[in-house]
Amino acid sequence: MLLEHAQVQSLMQAWPRSLVLEAARAAQRWARTLVERGDSALGLDLLAERIQAYLLLADHERLRPVINATGIVLHTGLGRAVLPGTAAHALSCLDRCCNLQIDLDTGQRGKRNFMTERLLCRLTGAEAALVVNNNAAATLLILSSLCKGMDVVISRGQLIEIGGSYRLPDCIQQSGALMVEVGTTNKTHLRDYERVISENTAALLRVNPSNYRIVGFSHQVSTRELATLKEKYPVLIIDDLGCGAMVDLSQYGLPKEPTAMDSLAEGADLVCFSGDKLLGGPQAGIIVGRSDLIGRMRKHPLTRMLRVGKLTDMALEQTLRLFLEPERLVERHPTLKMLTLSAKEVKRRASRLKRRLDKENVALEIRVLYEQSAVGGGAMPDSPLPTFVLAIHSRTSSPDELARRLRYADPPVITRIKDNEVFLDLRTVLEDEEDALGQVLLELCSE
Ligand SMILES: *Cc1c(COP(=O)(O)O)cnc(C)c1O
Repeated sequence: MLLEHAQVQSLMQAWPRSLVLEAARAAQRWARTLVERGDSALGLDLLAERIQAYLLLADHERLRPVINATGIVLHTGLGRAVLPGTAAHALSCLDRCCNLQIDLDTGQRGKRNFMTERLLCRLTGAEAALVVNNNAAATLLILSSLCKGMDVVISRGQLIEIGGSYRLPDCIQQSGALMVEVGTTNKTHLRDYERVISENTAALLRVNPSNYRIVGFSHQVSTRELATLKEKYPVLIIDDLGCGAMVDLSQYGLPKEPTAMDSLAEGADLVCFSGDKLLGGPQAGIIVGRSDLIGRMRKHPLTRMLRVGKLTDMALEQTLRLFLEPERLVERHPTLKMLTLSAKEVKRRASRLKRRLDKENVALEIRVLYEQSAVGGGAMPDSPLPTFVLAIHSRTSSPDELARRLRYADPPVITRIKDNEVFLDLRTVLEDEEDALGQVLLELCSE
C-alpha cells in the first residue's frame, strides 16, 4: 500500500529499489513506535515524506567533497592532503585500463610502482624506494623484514602515539622486533644508544616527533650523530620522518622540517614517511634508502599484503612529478599553496566574502578576526600560521547548531568553534569553492 503511494513510486524511479525499501521499513518502524507511545496512526503522506527524508539523509552522508573551513591544512578527518589537480585528473582517467604492471617495451609482466619509485629516487637521492599503504605499514614492514627477533633501540622521547590508534611500541611488537628504550622522556644522549648496542642489535630507530614537542631542558640525538655509531657497530639507522617534507619548507618562510634527502645525506640507511602529509599526495607509506635493504624488504611476504593499488600509484606519481618543476610547485600543489598563503591574502579573501554577505543583509553578525591556522597531520605542532577568519554569530542559533547546519549544507562546510563563535578560515578553502561557500551562507540565512 505504502509502496503504491505516488511519492514512493517516484522515489523508486530516482533511487535504487533496495534503498527505498530499506527506508520504507525504517519509516514504518518509526511510525510503530509513535503508535505504541499512544499517538494516532500516521497517514501515508507523512510516511512517504519520512522515506524521502531517510533517503536524503543517507545520500548526504555519502563519501563526498566538503569545504574545509577549519584552517587545518592537513585535516585527518577530511582526508589529509588535498590532491593536486594533476593527480585528481589522472584518477578520473581510470575508467579504463592502465599499464600498472606491464612493460610497454616488451609486453611482459612489468614492475608495479616502477615510475613512482624512480621519481622518489630522483627527488630524494636514494638508491631505491618502496611504496606501501601508509607510514604505519612502512614502519611495520621495515621492522618485520629487517629486525625480527632482534633489538631495535629507540629514545624514550620518541615513543609516539598518533591519533587513531597508532602507537609505535605496538608496531614494534607486531613486527617481532624487540624494543629497547634508552634515555629519558626529555633527554637522550648518544652514549645512551651506544651503551645498549650488542650483537643482537639490528637498528637504531629515530622518530620525528611530528605531532608534539618536548621543549625546555631537552635533547635528542640527530641522525648525523647516530650515524657515527655505524663506524663501530653493524647497526642500521632507520629514520621515521612522519610528515615527510619533500622540499625544504624554510625557502617559503615556513619552519624547517627534515626532508628525506637530508636524512639520507646524514647517514640514515632507510627513511620512511607518509604520502598524504607534507608531500601532499594520496595516503601511502614511502620508504627510501639502501637498495640492498629495500631488495630484502621486497621479498618479505608483508610487502604483497601492504602494497598499494593503481589509484594510489597514479596519484602519487603525479604528485611527485610536480616536484620536478620547483618554480611552478606552489601554484600547483594545494598543500604548499595553503601553507604559504599570507595572512594578508587570507584577510583579503575573508573581507571579500564578508562584503558579499553584508550586501545581502544576512541575519548573521560577521567579523573578520586575526587568528591562527594549524598545519595539522602532526606537522609543525608548535608553528601555527597567522590567519584571518570570518567569525560568525547567529542571533537565532547557537554556535553548535550553526556549525551543524553548515555541515548539512550542500556542499557540507566544516568549521571550527571557538569562544562561542563559528570560525571560517579561508586558508583551507579552495578559491573555486569560495562562491559555493558564499551561497551556502546566504541560503542558511534565508531558511
Ligand atoms: C603520521 C605519522 C605516522 C603514521 O603515518 P600514516 O601514514 O598515517 O600511517 C607514523 N609516524 C610518524 C612520526 C608520523 O608523523
